[in-house]
Amino acid sequence: MNAFSVDLEDWYQGIELPFSSWNQHTERIRKGVDPLIELLSKHNTKATFFTLGWIGEKYPELIKQITDAGHEMASHGYSHEKVYDLSPQAFREEISKTKKILEDISGTEVAAFRAPFFSVTNKSLWALDILKEEGYSIDCSISPVKTWRYGISTTPDEIFTIKENGLTEFPVSTFKLLTKNLGIGGAYFRLFPYMLTSNGLKQRTKDGKVNMFYIHPWEYDPHHPVVDMERKAKITHYTRLSKTIPFTDKLLGQFKFDTVSNVVKQYKAEREVNEYSIEILKD
Ligand SMILES: [Zn+2]
Repeated sequence: MNAFSVDLEDWYQGIELPFSSWNQHTERIRKGVDPLIELLSKHNTKATFFTLGWIGEKYPELIKQITDAGHEMASHGYSHEKVYDLSPQAFREEISKTKKILEDISGTEVAAFRAPFFSVTNKSLWALDILKEEGYSIDCSISPVKTWRYGISTTPDEIFTIKENGLTEFPVSTFKLLTKNLGIGGAYFRLFPYMLTSNGLKQRTKDGKVNMFYIHPWEYDPHHPVVDMERKAKITHYTRLSKTIPFTDKLLGQFKFDTVSNVVKQYKAEREVNEYSIEILKD
């Protein structure tokens, strides 16, 4: 059981350029997302697209094209602001507005959410209650890999239920490389040889685990503009972007993937889902 997830956003949203400047940047979203949609179709694979409400308003025809092709539409917030930088009230408005925008365009239910930059951390666990209250049933915002920007190291690396509110949590999948824990997808997928991700997936499957793969459209667009940013962000952002297309082609040929909702449904039908209190998410 593997979920293929995409954080559907343009290049300037993945590198924290201010919301007020978004309309001034060159649009390249199609340059990344078109080859990805083609690869998914070639391998007859359905994926989940976590999308900004802002993207929905700007490109309704893209949202419709994706859901008409049978993919799942999900929410990535409205303005790509990190959850721990928002007030609970502002977060509530972002996710409620985005759910409505995407549901109105696609005519499908938006059940899942992923925070920009996996920003549900120790500082923003309050978001989990608000998600449930606003009608979301699945959250994919927590990374068990701790980085300078995100992560909760005590997060179970499996689908589980939040005891306090019944929300289903589907965290980023991780695998071990020597002493380090790495994620399945994103920069990890490009920076290292393909075999590392593929072996990670094989090992996890052998251990009976479900897997969550994630990627962004701009990772399929090696020529998107280079802007100045913090060194630690730059190291991972622009490196080996030309590998994403061939690696994804291999990945989709080697493993079977489905949408987040379908994987959760199948998991619940076949297994007992563990329940954890929010307390254990405080590392
Ligand atoms: Zn994002």
